[in-house]
Amino acid sequence: MSQNTQQFTIFGNPVEHSKSPQMHSAGFKAINFDANYSKYLLENGSTIKDTFLQNNFKGANITVPHKEYAYKNADILDDIAKKIGAVNTYINENGKIKGYNTDAPGFYKAIEEFKDIKNILLIGAGGTAKAIAVILKEHNIDVTVLNRSQNSREFFVDLGCKFFDWDTMRLMLSNGIIAYDLIVNSTSAGLKDDNYPAPLEILNPLIEATKYTFDCIYGKTTPFLKIAQKYNKPFKDGEDMLLYQGVLAFELFTGIKADDSLVKAMRKGLKES
Ligand code: NDP
Repeated sequence: MSQNTQQFTIFGNPVEHSKSPQMHSAGFKAINFDANYSKYLLENGSTIKDTFLQNNFKGANITVPHKEYAYKNADILDDIAKKIGAVNTYINENGKIKGYNTDAPGFYKAIEEFKDIKNILLIGAGGTAKAIAVILKEHNIDVTVLNRSQNSREFFVDLGCKFFDWDTMRLMLSNGIIAYDLIVNSTSAGLKDDNYPAPLEILNPLIEATKYTFDCIYGKTTPFLKIAQKYNKPFKDGEDMLLYQGVLAFELFTGIKADDSLVKAMRKGLKES
């Protein structure tokens, strides 16, 4: 490391598990970019701006639970971050912090191989669901949200999404099955447990009728994806979403457009244990 080495970090709490340092370091190495990427355990999210500036970071990623603090503390916001209300990437632009959300376009890139997607069922209404819903609406895709509670209903309805809880979805299904092109699990059900994101009597007929399925959770075949397997539906876990949000952040960090070999290097870095 020299005096010219640019400093990057990921803010989170916890942050120890994050694979971002290995993914970005692999990218820096692949293009000979003089940079160092660290993990920063940030306990108090409201200090994120001062911490970022005092440590002279050129850029940062922000993970749970600080994405909303990052949004509130940015000096300038990109349009997508503004609509979502959450930021996962900071760039120091001449002493001002510009906040971006690359989770949303990262998700969109991850579903690129699923063709002719016009209507999506999005299970979950948390931060990730908001990012996904915003980017899908930007692309004029019809979005229906299904959540166990009414949390954040207003956000999705204001965005132009339909919103169902389990009871209202049961009622809908009693009138006939709806065939969505893609069903996305953006809940944390299945992350550290074996839960389904919705009751089976709802999931089974919907997954049977869909073309594709996607789970934001990565590195495992969740109970949700096992239903997709049962019905022989093409499915993806969240690895590409994680990779592409990183690739897009990397492009902002370095100003360099990632080509296939760089993406490959970053994927390899991500998979290192
Ligand atoms: P939030 O805590 O903001 O939202 C969680 C959502 O899951 C809420 O809608 C919540 O419902 C719902 N939920 C939680 N437990 C259950 C359950 N047992 N059954 C049904 N619904 C449940 O989380 P995030 O949006 O930040 O993250 C969601 C998931 O996405 C996580 O698994 C995370 O790992 C993954 N993720 C993946 C990324 C990637 O790059 N691949 C990036 C970011 C997240 P309620 O509103 O009622 O509480």
